[in-house]
Amino acid sequence: LILVNIVQPGIDGGGEALLQSFEEPEHQPAQRTESTFGDVLRNIIPKNIVAAAVQGNVLGLIFFSIFLGVALLQIPSKTDAAVLRQGSNAAFQAIIWMIEKAMLFAPLGFLSLIADLVGSFVLEGQLSTLGSSMTAYTFTVVIGLLLHGVGTLGCLAWCFGISPIALFRQMIPAITSAFSTASSSATLPITLDCLENRAGVPNKIGSFVAPLGATINMDGTAIYEAVAVVFIANMLGVDLSWTQQALIFITATVSAVGAAGIPGAGLVMMVLILNTVGLPAEGVKLVIVVDRVLDMLRTSVNVWGDSLGAAIIAKHEKRETTNTLG
Ligand code: ASP
Repeated sequence: LILVNIVQPGIDGGGEALLQSFEEPEHQPAQRTESTFGDVLRNIIPKNIVAAAVQGNVLGLIFFSIFLGVALLQIPSKTDAAVLRQGSNAAFQAIIWMIEKAMLFAPLGFLSLIADLVGSFVLEGQLSTLGSSMTAYTFTVVIGLLLHGVGTLGCLAWCFGISPIALFRQMIPAITSAFSTASSSATLPITLDCLENRAGVPNKIGSFVAPLGATINMDGTAIYEAVAVVFIANMLGVDLSWTQQALIFITATVSAVGAAGIPGAGLVMMVLILNTVGLPAEGVKLVIVVDRVLDMLRTSVNVWGDSLGAAIIAKHEKRETTNTLG
């Protein structure tokens, strides 16, 4: 957030006109509501779960789902719990099937989105503005990822007595796989192999930390989402208050935890942040063009973070064991 506030990519973008074109006809400006910090905290526990689903209150839905999951583990009648679990599973499979069919039209939709965006900038003779804003945005994400991957994670490694360069070399196959597949989950077998056979992390630690990391530890995604939302706000000429920036900070972290380890998951979860700060979800089309390249880079940082986490825990456990034995 500090970086994107310094660089301010997209500050001279389309502004108000672009915002209005996004809000018509589906979203009238009157419907655009800005949540305050208190609203977001209050909405985490929804009053009405159906209303939460209709209003796109994803944090509320996540809270309810976790609570329901715990309840299913607690209720005495295991058969009743199993019925609900099987029902949810069947609904999940059916919805995945429906999404797969809808996704067949994705290339056409993607093409139309980009054509619409580029076309509107061409008509206003502002294509170069779009180009320079996108470039500034891309570089901000890349610099943010580098600062985190090399700076923060590197320092963390040093603090725990691990050489980041040596670990990086050992993890190169996993990081290159993350880069090429843009999926932490698809890279998981290679991450595990590198951790065990190249970095010497014991199986019992690697096989616990790496899958957990591939699912919830997405530092690259969180950085990307924060930069992207501020970029979208700049492009739409919306001035974000400090409260909204704090909300971005929190929701980017939470939504990165919720994002699946698959290509483009961070982009989808970004709608949650846009909703929270009252920006139109259509803003996503401003970042979709460069998303794949940034996805490759942020996934590499995600996998690098998971690997470092596993290495740190392995180191710590080793120390503990030596101390106990000593
Ligand atoms: N592709 C990322 C991953 O698998 C998630 C994201 O889209 O940010 O780690």
